[in-house]
Formats: sequence, structure tokens, C-alpha cells
Amino acid sequence: MARNIVWHPFTQHALEPDPVKISRGKGAWLETHDNSRILDAISSWWVVTHGHRHPAIVAAVREQIDRLDHVIFAGFTHEPAERLADKLVDVAPPGLAHVFFSDSGSTSVEVALKMALGYWRNIGQPRTRIAALEHGYHGDTIGTMSAGARGVFNAAYEPLLFDVVRIPFPHPGREQETLDALEAACREAPLAAFVVEPLILGAGGMLIYGADTLAEMKRICERHDALFIADEVMTGWGRTGTLFACEQAGITPDILCLAKGLTGGSLPLAATLATPRIFEAHFSEDRTRTFFHSSSYTANPVCCAAAAANLAIWDNEPVLDRITKLAGLQASALATLADDTRFENPRCIGTIAAIDLKVADGGYLATAGPRLRAHFLKHGILLRPLGNTIYVMPPYCTTASDLALVYDAIRSAPDVLA
Ligand SMILES: *Cc1c(COP(=O)(O)O)cnc(C)c1O
Repeated sequence: MARNIVWHPFTQHALEPDPVKISRGKGAWLETHDNSRILDAISSWWVVTHGHRHPAIVAAVREQIDRLDHVIFAGFTHEPAERLADKLVDVAPPGLAHVFFSDSGSTSVEVALKMALGYWRNIGQPRTRIAALEHGYHGDTIGTMSAGARGVFNAAYEPLLFDVVRIPFPHPGREQETLDALEAACREAPLAAFVVEPLILGAGGMLIYGADTLAEMKRICERHDALFIADEVMTGWGRTGTLFACEQAGITPDILCLAKGLTGGSLPLAATLATPRIFEAHFSEDRTRTFFHSSSYTANPVCCAAAAANLAIWDNEPVLDRITKLAGLQASALATLADDTRFENPRCIGTIAAIDLKVADGGYLATAGPRLRAHFLKHGILLRPLGNTIYVMPPYCTTASDLALVYDAIRSAPDVLA
């Protein structure tokens, strides 16, 4: 009889070892209850940007909880949310003027999809066709699973998922196929929206594509009046080398989804930003045009204070310099594996580096994940490969010597599968 009271995410309790109990975090490091140290080389699932417990974020949280813990956000507002929304509009690609708060990356994308459908309905041209990139990941709710790649992870829920038009991933050298497919999809029948992860598909295997292709996809959507939804839940907050990945393509999406690093990874908060056109389609004396979405903790003041502190860190500290430095360290560490025949496809963008382990047959892969995770933990490193893809996505405070430990552990990883 299984006795796991706590049911962990993406965890097969019948097969996996007991979870590691963490009692403290500081900078790039976690500390277990029995005082061993683990380097958080995946930023605790891509959320921690500046490091654990950045003093400015901790102070902002303390100060806010002493003033106002929470208040309903319909019919009420508060300083932390208003200040944060102003700042978000300032730093986001120009033209995004309205901010809707929710509490996770999944909900930020659900909100974006609902905004898109609401937009078309409210202007009297109902459109419901959604297009998305092959291998995309947008969350684990029914709507975001529908937009994301299908596989073993969502097979049980398949009957409830809605159809989306799947656009092939722009593999290097085959970008035109993607653009042609998007163009064809737009011509076939009007699209309500096209949802994409800009420059890199995260959970789909750290698949990188170029800013030119991103810009061209945006132009095609513009030509056909399909709303462009940028899911920057992972890529936002500096991960790809700029504050937002869309900057590198010089584009402003119609709707932008932010979460993960929004609070520096300290507390759950998400924001969906929209252009005036989307907001104005919902702005009406007709109540049926209201944007009908809320969650209990919408714009929680403590989470908003943490996010405002994150933005102040971007203003007050040389965050982009740190990112550039970390990106350089990642690129040169990755280069040391380039000639190693046990690996293939080394790739990096900004602070993210990834490489694939060569594995002979796919069946083998199923057991590789847990064995690799155990190997890394034994070396005091938190890494969580996606299939045979090992990726490193550490907080920006990670030092050269920290990173050397990570790559030493990666170098010895193929041995555990031999
Ligand atoms: C993680 C992620 C999400 C989902 O965010 P949650 O906070 O886990 O719900 C959505 N989109 C992308 C691109 C992500 O990486």
C-alpha cells in the first residue's frame, strides 16, 4: 500500500526515490535538511533568475505582508499591482498597454487564449481556430495542453483536448517549411490566434530557432489578421540574453504571457499583457463583452511586491552584464563537449545551454531520466534532463566554478547509462 500523502508533480511514486528534503536556499544553492548542498542548475524549474532569496525581494515581501496580505481584485485595487502594471508596460515591447494578472504560466496562456476568442466574438467576427508550433509547451491545463504537443503526458486527457492547427517547428535550414505552413493555415480559414514560444521551445526539448523566423511568423499573422500570442513564460526575464525574447526579433505580440521569473522565482504570479485593440474589444456598455476570468489570488499584493522588487533589481543592478557573462561561460563550457562523440547537438541561447546524449534505442530512454537525475544528485547538482536532452539553465548569480561542477557531472553522465 502506497503511503505517499504528498502527491508530487510529474512523479511516478512507485518508481522514484523519496524526494529530497530542502530546508534552505541561497543564491544558486539549495541546502538539504541534513546539511548537504545542491547546486540549482535548472533554477528550480526555470523560475529563479537572480538566485534564491535575493535580499531586495525578501525585504519587499516582508514589508508588503505587514501592510496588506490580500484583497479581492474585482472592484478593488492596490498600490503594488498598479505600480507593477505601470512598470511592466514600460519594459515590455512597445504597444502592450494592458496587464491582466493571474497566478501561473498555464493560466497566463489560458487567459491569452480566452482574450483572443473574446476579441473575435466581441467584434462580431467569431473565430476559434488556434495554431501552435509543433513540440510547443504552454502548460498543463486542458486549454494549454490542447495548444501544446501531444504525447504520453496528456494521452489520458486527449478526448477533452481541442484541435489546433500544428505548424512544423522551424528546424535550422527548413524555416521556409514553417513559414509556408503558417501561410497556408491562414489562407485555409481565418485563425483566431497563433501561439508560440519565441526563439526556444523549452519543455519540447530546448529547440532553438532564429529571430528572423520569429519576425517572419509575426508578419504572416499580421497580413492575415491572426492574433500573435507570445508565450514568454520561460524565455522572459533575460533567459535568452535580452529581457524578452521578442526584442531580438523587434516584434510586439498582440498578447504576451509572463510568469516564472516575474517575481524572480520567489512567489507565484503571472501576467498577460495585451494591446489596446484587445482591451477595447472588451470595453463596452454591453456587459456580455466583459472579460470573464478571475482566480482567487489575482494580483496578490505580496506577489506583486515581489515582482516589483524583481523589476527594481533589473533597474539597480547590472543584470544584463551578469547574463552576458553567464552566457559566455555556458557557451565555452558547452564547447568542451563539442568533440565528445557520446554527445550531439550542442546548442545555446543566452543563459540556456543544451546537449543531447546519444542513445541507441528509445526504449532505453524511459529509464535514463531517473538514472541521470540520481547521478547528478550524487554530484550535488540539480539537473533534470528532458528525455536524452541535458540542459543547464542556472540562476544568473552562478559562478564559473559552480558551472565547472555542473559540466564535470555532465561529462561523467554517459557512464551511468553504459
Ligand atoms: C512552464 C511553462 C508554462 C507553464 O507555466 P506554469 O507556471 O508551470 O503553469 C507555460 N509556457 C511555457 C513556455 C513554459 O515554459
